[in-house]
Amino acid sequence: MVDLVANFLRELRPSEVEPAVLMISGRPFPRWSAKNLDISWATLSDVVLRAVGSEREELERAFDATGDLGDAAEMVFASKPKRQATLIEAPLTLDEVIRIFNRIAAVKGEGARERKEAILEGLLSRATPLEAKYLIKIIIGEMRTGFREGLMELAVSRAFGVRPEAIKRATMFCGEIVDVAKVAATEGEKGVLAIGPEIFRPTQPMLAQNICSVEEAIALHGGSTAFEYKLDGARVQVHKRGDEVKVFSRRLSDVTEGLPEVVDAVKEEVKAEQVILEGEVVALGKGNVPLPFQYLMQRFRRERDIEAMMREIPVSLTLFDVLYYDGHSLIDFRYLDRRKKLCELAGEISVVEQLITDDASEARGFLEESLRAGHEGLVAKKLDSTYTPGARGKLWLKIKPVLEPLDLVIVAAEYGYGKRHRWLSDYYLAARDEATGEFLVVGKTFKGLTDKEIAEMTERLKELTIKREGRRVLVTPKVVVEVAYNEIQRSPKYKCGMALRFARITRIRDDKGPEDADTIQRVREIFRKQVKSHG
Ligand code: AMP
Repeated sequence: MVDLVANFLRELRPSEVEPAVLMISGRPFPRWSAKNLDISWATLSDVVLRAVGSEREELERAFDATGDLGDAAEMVFASKPKRQATLIEAPLTLDEVIRIFNRIAAVKGEGARERKEAILEGLLSRATPLEAKYLIKIIIGEMRTGFREGLMELAVSRAFGVRPEAIKRATMFCGEIVDVAKVAATEGEKGVLAIGPEIFRPTQPMLAQNICSVEEAIALHGGSTAFEYKLDGARVQVHKRGDEVKVFSRRLSDVTEGLPEVVDAVKEEVKAEQVILEGEVVALGKGNVPLPFQYLMQRFRRERDIEAMMREIPVSLTLFDVLYYDGHSLIDFRYLDRRKKLCELAGEISVVEQLITDDASEARGFLEESLRAGHEGLVAKKLDSTYTPGARGKLWLKIKPVLEPLDLVIVAAEYGYGKRHRWLSDYYLAARDEATGEFLVVGKTFKGLTDKEIAEMTERLKELTIKREGRRVLVTPKVVVEVAYNEIQRSPKYKCGMALRFARITRIRDDKGPEDADTIQRVREIFRKQVKSHG
């Protein structure tokens, strides 16, 4: 697969490399882009039917046979030979398809749906059956070729003769292989090596590994370490140049508009012309007590008028790192030096509580203090560690004292009974199989969400519905939820052979996508550990 893609990329014109890498990766826009097509499954199938002049039953039969809207569309497109004769002469090009995606994303306001449909119909009516298949897979975000980002990095490396390590490193700064591919194609390895943190282009965040105790952290970090409170909010990366400030989420999307207080605080307090800061945004209730995560997500989703939301759910920013300062990258600086710089820059914005110690009992006291203040636990940071974008290594360790919840993806749902009979209130929860990319069900629950959340979830899942089977609907795996449970049991009920006992949803993780969900390999690991400790 890598060779096929590499050879293909090598033959393209430079301007085609970016759209090709995007589309092979199954995405219409780069990850950092705030654009989205906003086309539901239902709209898409309507347009497919109109573009080929087919009956709904025909598409449904094709879908039942293939289980994939792209494959189904290819079948119905291919079954209409007359349509083929009407294709206009000029075939679709890569540049043109991306231009059309941009036009669709730009449509807003009244009548948006109809205008989007018209542009989409124009696109599909020019597509061959094979093109239609892949366009549809890209539009619904389900490429399913198994050609993951790591393989694309190798393909770009081979295509343009740049070492894989250089590509990987640059991807962490760009947050996107797409941008690196463009530089590799035009400037080669020299250009790729020059890529570093840049204002207004978010860098992949450094991640922390889970461990069980403060003792383990002290030992792993060579006898002494810096403990920080682990705040229970959402991570943000704040970029500032002069008077302009942008805020990016953990998944690198631009969330600036939803968080005006964060923007204002940074503008007023931070003493730097150009800076990239990292921190955690927490929603505050009465008496400044941290509120549950779902409140915060309402702010990120910008569901309602921002002014009103700011009054109802104020948020506060606490900083924990600095990656760039007035023209210089700080990622190769030691943790201690970055922290010192951060404290100098932060002004009145709080910097996360920290304790440097080699003493386990002192560290345990600090953990207690963090939990009592309503936080999640501690993060331990190795004193001499540099900032490693995108890496989950041993330099940062997180200590959360409870049986850790899993982030799982909703793959199906059932209508409830009684007062919930109109709502999709019973959810099938799945973990991703790292080996195959398949989502495997590990449990089912109707517990944890409020009635209001269930009503909203019903609307979202209806949009994502692929197929209805009686009272059950199968949905595109998109929505990630955090799930608590009492134990993992061996069970023949699901294909993976395990089932969560007493599963309940603890929050909706809109900051995570299905690719960030926990894997079936991790569920197995927890299961094995549990067997070891309980026999
Ligand atoms: P997790 O999302 O469970 O992998 O835990 C890592 C997350 O903890 C980061 O992505 C941050 O959002 C959050 N976090 C909270 N406090 C800190 C801190 N002091 N340093 C780094 N990350 C923190």
